[in-house]
Amino acid sequence: MNTAVTGYPRIGKDRELKFASEKYFNGQIGESELLATAKEIRKGNLLKQKEAGITYISSNDFSFYDNVLDTAFLFNIIPQRYKDLNLPDLGTYFAMARGYQGSNGNVKALAMKKWFNTNYHYLVPEIDDDTKIVLTGAKPIDEFVEAKAFGVDTKTAITGPFTFLKLARFTGSKTISDVSSDLAAEYVKLISLLAEKGASLVEFDEPYLVRDLSADDIALFKEIYSPILSDKHGVKILLQTYFGDIRDIYNEVTALDFDAIGLDFIEGVKTAELIEKNGFPIDKILFAGVVNGKNIWRNNYKRSIGILKGIEAENIVVNTSCSLLHVPYSLESETKLADEYKKHFAFAEEKLTELNEIAELAGKDYANDEIFKKNQALFEGRVNCEDKAVQARVEAITDEDYVRLPVFEEREKIQKQILNLPLFPTTTIGSFPQTSDVRKNRQDYRKGNISREEYVEFNRKKIAECIKLQEEIGLDVIVHGEFERNDMVEYFGENLNGYVFTEKAWVQSYGTRNVKPPIIWGDVSRKAPITVEWSKFAKSCTDKPVKGMLTGPVTILNWSFPREDISIRESILQIALAIRDEVLDLEANGINIIQIDEAALREKLPLRKSDWYSEYLDFAIPAFRLVHSKVKPETQIHTHMCYSEFTDIIPAIDAMDADVITFEASRSDLQILDSLKENNFKTEVGPGVYDIHSPRVPSVEEIVAALTKMRTKIEDTKLWVNPDCGLKTRGEEETKKSLINLVEAARRIRG
Ligand code: GLN
Ligand code: ZN
Repeated sequence: MNTAVTGYPRIGKDRELKFASEKYFNGQIGESELLATAKEIRKGNLLKQKEAGITYISSNDFSFYDNVLDTAFLFNIIPQRYKDLNLPDLGTYFAMARGYQGSNGNVKALAMKKWFNTNYHYLVPEIDDDTKIVLTGAKPIDEFVEAKAFGVDTKTAITGPFTFLKLARFTGSKTISDVSSDLAAEYVKLISLLAEKGASLVEFDEPYLVRDLSADDIALFKEIYSPILSDKHGVKILLQTYFGDIRDIYNEVTALDFDAIGLDFIEGVKTAELIEKNGFPIDKILFAGVVNGKNIWRNNYKRSIGILKGIEAENIVVNTSCSLLHVPYSLESETKLADEYKKHFAFAEEKLTELNEIAELAGKDYANDEIFKKNQALFEGRVNCEDKAVQARVEAITDEDYVRLPVFEEREKIQKQILNLPLFPTTTIGSFPQTSDVRKNRQDYRKGNISREEYVEFNRKKIAECIKLQEEIGLDVIVHGEFERNDMVEYFGENLNGYVFTEKAWVQSYGTRNVKPPIIWGDVSRKAPITVEWSKFAKSCTDKPVKGMLTGPVTILNWSFPREDISIRESILQIALAIRDEVLDLEANGINIIQIDEAALREKLPLRKSDWYSEYLDFAIPAFRLVHSKVKPETQIHTHMCYSEFTDIIPAIDAMDADVITFEASRSDLQILDSLKENNFKTEVGPGVYDIHSPRVPSVEEIVAALTKMRTKIEDTKLWVNPDCGLKTRGEEETKKSLINLVEAARRIRG
């Protein structure tokens, strides 16, 4: 069997692209140096895959920022405000990606959204009535030619027109059907140019096909591909899908004149069944995605070979389930991880070997093969993975554990009496500016340059100052400032049993921003109280209420690499029990307001609406309740979410049964408030009154105006006043000024 890779990580093994891009943005290096770094990364990636013996290697999987943006740029889908800057091409490209502020003008970046169910983000293309869709770029062609010069004959991977249009925003009066044939014609042009350069295979990435599709969607897909498939210029076309199965369009897709079809056998729970029921055309190649492109565990060869042998198709290529962009580069960079851990992981580079081994084993009598046996031995157990006590605790959870009593309305009364807060109480989301001294303190402690006492002493000083500042400003509910945390998930992971950490396992989140998700290795429990000492100290500094600050189980799980040997549900419950211990300890130590952040709650919401509850919310929401269900009625539970994109799951959010929820609303048009009202949302709310993602200081009038609008939708007794997220990325000056204005605005409204 042949092998294929949908796409390779492109940030560079040592994050070279990030560092070069940042230097370029700061003017420390010029364009040519950045281009040279990018070329080196592409070369390294291609040769690595070639050496590994992969048959179908992608070009055009590289990007300076994002592939959807690349596709928009390629077809001249560039809003006029960026063209008006009169920058060189790369400058225009980065202006769309990051915004531009300088001598040529001042424009915001394109909107950014999560790429399907991943933590990668794409830039949302904008199409207005003046957009002229024309193939003006040449990136796919250049990168194909470049790869050839490196000795690699590649398939050209490109965002497909259907997914592209479905993700685009139409800002004028035009809709998809007004532009789809123009776009299709330009793709045809691209194919003809690639053909001239000797390309034999082009891959159209169409992940949108795994979503719920309407009859109109299916008609649109067929319409867009009709000119492309009838004018192939001798090039073979691979339709690549991922992040699920294509149950709504399988029969239509297989009937079209694609030469190859890529299907996902990892997240596509129905993929095998679709083939079995409907057959797979003998004249097409099946790119079978059996190696997980999203997680870091070794492939189970028995499962993969079983799938491959079970499919009735003439010609099968062993493929990754999606681009390897979502996993780190190589285990080689992990020097501290013991081998008994490491041998269970496969990052991008190791997955290349897996693809080959699977392809080879599938073609022979593999049961007694040494490679196969070695692989199977990995699944017989792992060291330090099981904790019977944790399992028993999960087992012992009863329905009552998910229910907090008394009911919300009664708690609300009790809490109002005990906390005695003014109307429109003011607070923040938790973190205060992480100035360089704060980070240095943590690093020094980590490196062993300072003692535990010195580290704690410094943080206490910071907490005391932070509290004094909040008292001076006049905030009602005080936070300690989170100076001990690097990251809201890694910090908790480090304090839980069952986690493993890497040194260099970076994954692109967006543009130059990479994340290093910790790995859930085994059963999770709390080692010892995590935040209690900090919160206790904070409380000793003030007479005002201090809000304890935790990260919730769903977010901790969603921003880690999850286990594959137990269900997500089971993992979340384990984490929930650990965090519940922390909640109860905080309460026992006199902290009577506790915020449990669920910034990433929406992240793993299934792509199909029909799966939202049964496959996710039905256990994610109860898991959150499990964390706080045993606190006293007078203890007020807050939660925080980073996006207001939850209009469609408001009942689920209310069912978290928190007492207060704060969320980001300042950038959206507050339409979420209408939905809250329509749904009779019971939880008290703090829709962020200003955007913390920019250094701008909001005026009192502006905040008063935002609050006035909010008051038309939310009862006065339920409205909180707060920024829209944590302040850790902001400077001290702007933070102080903004919060002074926030408190003043609340006072005016009260008056
Ligand atoms: N409590 C966290 C903070 O203030 C929340 C961060 C987040 O929502 N991303 O930093
Ligand atoms: Zn947030």
